Amino acid sequence: MDAETLEPITSLRQLAAAEAGCTRCPLYKNATQAVPGEGPSRATFMLVGEQPGDKEDLAGKPFVGPAGRMLDQALHDAGIAREKTFVTNAVKHFKHEMRGKRRLHKRPNNYEIERCKIWLDDERKLIKPAAVIALGVTAARSLTGKTLTIAKVRGKPLTLADGTKLFVTVHPSSLLRIEAEADKRAAYRAFVADLKKAAAEVAAV
Ligand code: SF4
Repeated sequence: MDAETLEPITSLRQLAAAEAGCTRCPLYKNATQAVPGEGPSRATFMLVGEQPGDKEDLAGKPFVGPAGRMLDQALHDAGIAREKTFVTNAVKHFKHEMRGKRRLHKRPNNYEIERCKIWLDDERKLIKPAAVIALGVTAARSLTGKTLTIAKVRGKPLTLADGTKLFVTVHPSSLLRIEAEADKRAAYRAFVADLKKAAAEVAAV
């Protein structure tokens, strides 16, 4: 549903246009542009991140920065074809604060997540994925309306209100922040294992 006109949204193109004109929360004011989800309209998996980062904000595309490259590699290692995935974010505008000339990421708050959920709901209605994979707590919050602890729910399929399977795992950017190489490798293996479990559940249906 378009928040401004209350007309039903029937295509991804229409949805992107609605997001581009969105003023439902203050985040549009300091971002370059809204970043719509991307992928085939009949994707098997929908991967939901937190919000666009600095590179995504400038490019207008989701997951094109370092976290996106990490995600691409992990999907490949989990045996999930990238062309079967639709990637998006819980919040469509880049929230940040200036530190000198650098734009530093700031986590969206619950109000911003709730205000932006209308677009994620529309994406889900259009794509109808077999499974949704929440990458991190912000995506999990948007999809379930609850604050979940990743360690408690990762690896276990949940069910959304409309019956869609939900899997929760970490955001790939969290792997990039791990300094010790051995810890980073272990976290990456756990991330790939979570993706593999989602793929196995979908294949079994
Ligand atoms: S972050 Fe979401 S709700 Fe806020 S202005 Fe952007 S598109 Fe609208």
